[in-house]
Amino acid sequence: MGKPTGFMEYTRQTVIDRPPRERIGDFKEFHQHLDEQKRRDQGARCMDCGIPFCQSSYGCPVDNLIPEWNDLVYQGKWEEAFLRLMKTNNFPEYTGRVCPAPCETACVLGINEPAVTIKDNECTIIDRAYDAGLMQPRIPQSRTGKRVAVIGSGPAGLSAADQLNQAGHEVTVYERDDRIGGLLMYGIPNMKLDKELVERRNSLMAEEGISFRTNSNVGVDVPVQQLVDDHDAVLVATGATLPRDLPVPGRELKGVHFAMEFLKSNTKSLLDSGLADGSFIDAAGKKVIVIGGGDTGNDCIGTSMRHGCAAMVNFELLPKPARERTADQPWPTYPRLLKNDYGHEESEAVFGSDPREFSILTKEFLGNEQGELTGVKTVRVKWIKEPGERPRFEEVPGSEEVWEADLVFLALGFLGPEQQLIEQLELETDARSNVAAEYGRFVTTHPKVFAAGDARRGQSLVVWAINEGRAAAREIDRALMGVTELP
Ligand code: FAD
Repeated sequence: MGKPTGFMEYTRQTVIDRPPRERIGDFKEFHQHLDEQKRRDQGARCMDCGIPFCQSSYGCPVDNLIPEWNDLVYQGKWEEAFLRLMKTNNFPEYTGRVCPAPCETACVLGINEPAVTIKDNECTIIDRAYDAGLMQPRIPQSRTGKRVAVIGSGPAGLSAADQLNQAGHEVTVYERDDRIGGLLMYGIPNMKLDKELVERRNSLMAEEGISFRTNSNVGVDVPVQQLVDDHDAVLVATGATLPRDLPVPGRELKGVHFAMEFLKSNTKSLLDSGLADGSFIDAAGKKVIVIGGGDTGNDCIGTSMRHGCAAMVNFELLPKPARERTADQPWPTYPRLLKNDYGHEESEAVFGSDPREFSILTKEFLGNEQGELTGVKTVRVKWIKEPGERPRFEEVPGSEEVWEADLVFLALGFLGPEQQLIEQLELETDARSNVAAEYGRFVTTHPKVFAAGDARRGQSLVVWAINEGRAAAREIDRALMGVTELP
């Protein structure tokens, strides 16, 4: 343990992101770093509390050795910190930027002080390692002669590919998009996760021996049976890409889009041409309504702000969460408090108020004779919670409103994986139409086919996708070799 009194001497200091009004002028990352001494002070705040809930699977799904590397950060032993970090996490440059950091809500210091800045510490360790040239290709010493196909190049597929390649198997990743990364590439926008970082990691993995096949839609232009026949194992890591719709009157109007249509077209155009090709949904000068909260809704707000939208409203059916921890809940840092994400901050900086409207239900999209969206009709709802029952809502009579809108983005979550590939492989699905494969074993009803990530667990987080990719790789290795030494 490093500095026993660090948590009493230093207060929590998070990185100060670029100011909202400045950063909406471009799509560059808004994340910044503290200087080295300040970062080391933040590492010193870790109490080495004895029961590190932060690194339990609740706090960190990949079981990062958090107190150990916090201490190494405090001591300025950056290379050792990096080596500890790489033991558990294939892609800390992603989680250090986009993870909602359940580790910090589990931090014991959070009982009476703000939690340790675990996520920012992680990000600094890995960014310094890249800058110092420590991230060199790790070419496996020997090859097993076994071939594994990974379908889908999101964090689940990529972490599995990384592990399996290190175990000496010949790994090919098939991706239907033109770029590798799944939602790391075409979901999470550039200002939150710079695509140069994703390309940098992809290049490293290619140097290490992994083959990437882009524009390869398995089940459409790559016959899936051929893939199964040609490989010793196949991993389905195709994500949960089916968006939840809002089938109210007017849904067909021009201007109503799924969030992913907006986000993907924007990032693709940004990378292809710096948005010069115009092949994206442009929110410039438009009145935008984002329906649904969460990361996806917030990313739609941030992207619209960068286009220069004329107005922004964000509807949320759920009630407004509390801003402070209430006396009746025992968690150190309650994770469901109202938090301002970057898009909310940016909208508030430009338009002067929080864009969020809570407890509001969309009833209808309104349009003109040309079939273009002109507005959204809503009603307020009241939430009712009876003891022992699930919360339910009732519409509040007389609370109907009409909101002007030129663009609506639907960010209502995802229903699960697309079924076509699953049907072709004749895989069983669970009650939520995810691929059925027990957590811990990951094998599907086809003995050569495994499943991991959002395709198996449903819409989740990057860190859970990495957890599942690593764990599925271990089971694939065990199936191919009889034993496994993969962590
Ligand atoms: P995905 O990342 O979805 O990757 C699946 C890949 O499979 C895709 O590239 C898809 O094209 C490919 N594919 C599908 N079918 C085929 C086929 N037949 N042939 C070939 N390829 C195929 N999580 C966080 O932790 N933090 C965040 O800030 C965050 N922000 C998010 C923002 C948005 C807009 C969205 C939608 C999600 C966000 N998430 C975030 C969730 C997170 O991105 C996902 O949980 C995670 O990416 C799931 O990883 P995965 O590998 O299972 O699937």
